[in-house]
Amino acid sequence: MATINDNYLKLKAGYLFPEIARRVNSFAQANPDAKIIRLGIGDVTEPLPEACRTAMIKAVEEMGDRTSFKGYGPEQGYAWLREKIAAQDFQARGADIDASEIFISDGSKCDSGNILDIFGQNNIIAVTDPVYPVYVDTNVMAGNTGAANDKGEFAGLVYLPISAKNNFTAEIPSQKVDLIYLCFPNNPTGATATKEHLTAWVDYARANNSIIFFDAAYEAYITDPTIPHSIYEIPGARECAIEFRSFSKNAGFTGTRCALTVVPKTLTAKAADGSDVELWKLWNRRQSTKFNGVSYIVQRGAEAVYSQSGQGQIQALVSFYLENAQIIRQQLSAAGLVVYGGVNAPYVWVKTPDNLSSWEFFDKLLHIVNVVGTPGSGFGAAGEGYFRISAFNSRENVEEAMRRITEKIKV
Ligand SMILES: *Cc1c(COP(=O)(O)O)cnc(C)c1O
Repeated sequence: MATINDNYLKLKAGYLFPEIARRVNSFAQANPDAKIIRLGIGDVTEPLPEACRTAMIKAVEEMGDRTSFKGYGPEQGYAWLREKIAAQDFQARGADIDASEIFISDGSKCDSGNILDIFGQNNIIAVTDPVYPVYVDTNVMAGNTGAANDKGEFAGLVYLPISAKNNFTAEIPSQKVDLIYLCFPNNPTGATATKEHLTAWVDYARANNSIIFFDAAYEAYITDPTIPHSIYEIPGARECAIEFRSFSKNAGFTGTRCALTVVPKTLTAKAADGSDVELWKLWNRRQSTKFNGVSYIVQRGAEAVYSQSGQGQIQALVSFYLENAQIIRQQLSAAGLVVYGGVNAPYVWVKTPDNLSSWEFFDKLLHIVNVVGTPGSGFGAAGEGYFRISAFNSRENVEEAMRRITEKIKV
């Protein structure tokens, strides 16, 4: 008799986005003429940079010639890509990361879930609240949690609230935790972490022999020169942090798929017999066994991000979305709403007016102005009373959505 992984039954059934779709569809059916604008989903909208397309077209041609054809590549990614990443994303910022410590993958969503493969079952795990749901659900699937309560909080996880009360920084826990997920610039709040804040985390992790999973998917959106892009800009982070990065949000690779994970060779954790084991070796073993690398064509596309023209083009893309975020911030503030984020991140985090719940505000925006956002409560209990608006859209849609809100939603 075949049995299942019962942990999957504990999952809250991917509640958030299906529920949004259900409400939007029923509204659209009842109001077929409504022009609905979706500012809810965290996916990019603008086309791939020309430098990346040109590089991929050339790579396709190489694949068509037996002298330049490529079969299986290195599971860790091609060295020419890893070397450019090490030099331009890390060493240029004073972060001491070697190309051999970089693993190319098909996504940081995948890697941030897969990383649990190399960790034990008895770690105490901390996540922020609100949180990118992947961190929580992958721990549920791996059997690292108990059941969820009414608020959607899973037994066995330590939740670190991020809210206006603590200036949107994840408070250092008073207890000892072993694994900590941090995402800065943050999805969903758009908050950033200062050098002092990250230093406090690195010091905590080193004092407690904890490992930080640092998700830097939105680092390209940092405009403030004092904010670190990588956790490895903080002294000591090589001893306590794994970093996830992605080409999804800087170069529009959400549908093309390329990302990277950094596992420093100086990073260790305990085996059952008390000995220290290098995490790099375990992750290398894991990737070599369960992964066969990212397509040569896509890696050539990612490499083009590091060319001079590529850098200019991704800067233009990021600036475009940040201008959208600025328009959203300005217009929502003009409508009397309190807004956070959206300066070093493509997300604006809105306090719901009049003590409306996240879902009540969702319904109000959908029904009155036909604009779809994401209820903050869908990202965790502490997200209740907040709402996420994404800057990933055309300028026309952003301006139209904001015009409707300033005209019809007065707080
Ligand atoms: C979009 C996003 C990513 C990127 O995931 P990919 O699988 O690389 O597309 C990672 N982390 C967060 C928090 C994100 O929002």
